[in-house]
Amino acid sequence: MKRFLLTLWNDLLGLFYPRICGACGAPLIDGEELLCLYCLFELPRLSYHRYPDDENPLRNIFAGCSSVRQVIAYLHFQKESYVQHLIHEFKYHKNERLAIYIGRLAAEDLQRDGYLTDVDLFVPVPLHPRKMRQRGYNQSERVARGMASVYHHPIDTTSLIRHTYTKTQTRKSAYERRQNVKNVFSVAHPERLAGHHILLIDDVLTTGSTLLNCIDALRNVPDLLISIFVVSTVI
Ligand SMILES: [Zn+2]
Repeated sequence: MKRFLLTLWNDLLGLFYPRICGACGAPLIDGEELLCLYCLFELPRLSYHRYPDDENPLRNIFAGCSSVRQVIAYLHFQKESYVQHLIHEFKYHKNERLAIYIGRLAAEDLQRDGYLTDVDLFVPVPLHPRKMRQRGYNQSERVARGMASVYHHPIDTTSLIRHTYTKTQTRKSAYERRQNVKNVFSVAHPERLAGHHILLIDDVLTTGSTLLNCIDALRNVPDLLISIFVVSTVI
């Protein structure tokens, strides 16, 4: 009886909130959760983190940063692709559960393969408070939550802060992006980060300007190691 009521409830919910895949938009069938099985298996997962450091194109972006250890991107981002749709779903269409889900999927793969085992604190790239109010949540923090459900590390959302409001980056050139995020981050509580190996978490890596500016803001934190995880990259 209980199971019947639960199924009925899910069917009723489905009438109001159709269950569709967060990447390709196909209707989900029983047993599928947020992504259809096709997308779950066929999403373009990247493996740059398996390359030697000098052959990892993501690692090269951060070559001048002595505190940076691992740089990991989960999916390959292309315009008009399922990955773009997925990112837009959790960034602009309030599908925060999808961000948590993707964080968990990525973390399950990485933990199984022995990556990020010496990280001890997750630090999502912060949004400006105004953008946070508009969006309702920080998508990178939701990704961090998904990852934390696997790694069980705490998430720090108060030490690294974004104190300047920046307009969206998507239509800017690489130079404009770098200028746009220069000096927009600062560290409110360096003592909370000191001595840690943090994982900086962001949704999309294009030129790396946002993350490079975060790393610059963190440069005076004593004994800090930094690894980087992005859900997707155009590289
Ligand atoms: Zn799908």
